[in-house]
Amino acid sequence: RIIAPQKLSAQEEQLERALRPKSLADYIGQHKAKEQLAIFIQAARQRGDALDHTLLFGPPGLGKTTLANIIARELGVNLRQTSGPVLERAGDLAALLTNLEPHDVLFIDEIHRLSPVVEEILYPALEDFQLDIMIGEGPAARSVKIDLPPFTLVGATTRAGMLTNPLRDRFGIVARLEFYQADDLATIVRRSAALLNMDLDEAGADEIARRSRGTPRIANRLLRRVRDYAEVKHGGRISADIADAALTLLDVDSAGLDMMDRKFLDAVLHKFGGGPVGLDNVAAAIGESSDTIEDVIEPYLIQQGLLQRTPRGRMATERTYHHFGIQPSA
Ligand code: ADP
Repeated sequence: RIIAPQKLSAQEEQLERALRPKSLADYIGQHKAKEQLAIFIQAARQRGDALDHTLLFGPPGLGKTTLANIIARELGVNLRQTSGPVLERAGDLAALLTNLEPHDVLFIDEIHRLSPVVEEILYPALEDFQLDIMIGEGPAARSVKIDLPPFTLVGATTRAGMLTNPLRDRFGIVARLEFYQADDLATIVRRSAALLNMDLDEAGADEIARRSRGTPRIANRLLRRVRDYAEVKHGGRISADIADAALTLLDVDSAGLDMMDRKFLDAVLHKFGGGPVGLDNVAAAIGESSDTIEDVIEPYLIQQGLLQRTPRGRMATERTYHHFGIQPSA
């Protein structure tokens, strides 16, 4: 999927690192989150304290990892990065925590996927900067307490609702990232094009921005694909027409929806009469997992008013019918 917001490959990861803004001032859009963080970071620095534990949540590709790196940089400390599913045993987390220096940032991506045993030892670490672990087995087992330096946990999640309450309660700062406005995305596209030495005009940037599902990762990816097209067909120059032709070839429609989005909405409309229909039923009908639909496909469709989530299930909206050029059945 060209517009899957998850990272696609190691190569993309490397490119992303090159395009990643390094300071809050360079971080485009997300004004509310940025303003909040700027104040809290400055206050922590002035007091000489570690920043409060911070939870970043929002759909994939909106800039959570980028922001975690910026937070560490603005605090002038190291960032250690890991992710929920990688931390399998309590010892994995203990190893990371005991290696932190005072005020460091520990970034845990997909923090909603921490195992319960790991989460259990995280609580006292967050609360009292203490590690409480069992060593040995059977009758010889004993518990040891280790003091940790004060540190900041930055957690990222696509779904705040999947965090356990005790974990969520331990974050002093919660920042919600929103889908980007088209003008902010256009700024991101122009910035990336400049960094990659591309010949892109204003209207070309706007066209790519409009069709990027409100997501910087997708904007940067579409920009690179459009460049390929422009280089092969038009000597490299990217205008709105060229961007449109390239994106159409990639099956990204005028609203920025791709094949999977359309397949999903098409199922809601045609297989289930516009809904309401349960998530699992649509998932089975299109052969996609409910998790992917909920994390990746739905948030943007809902934000665009192309889908409604009701207590009785998913429903098409007037806009959905309009987008597909059909009349709602009475
Ligand atoms: P997430 O962790 O939420 O999945 P990332 O932080 O990895 O998202 O962001 C994906 C890419 O999008 C980054 O490599 C960066 O190039 C770009 N990006 C994200 N947010 C911004 C922003 N506010 N300004 C400019 N580029 C951004």
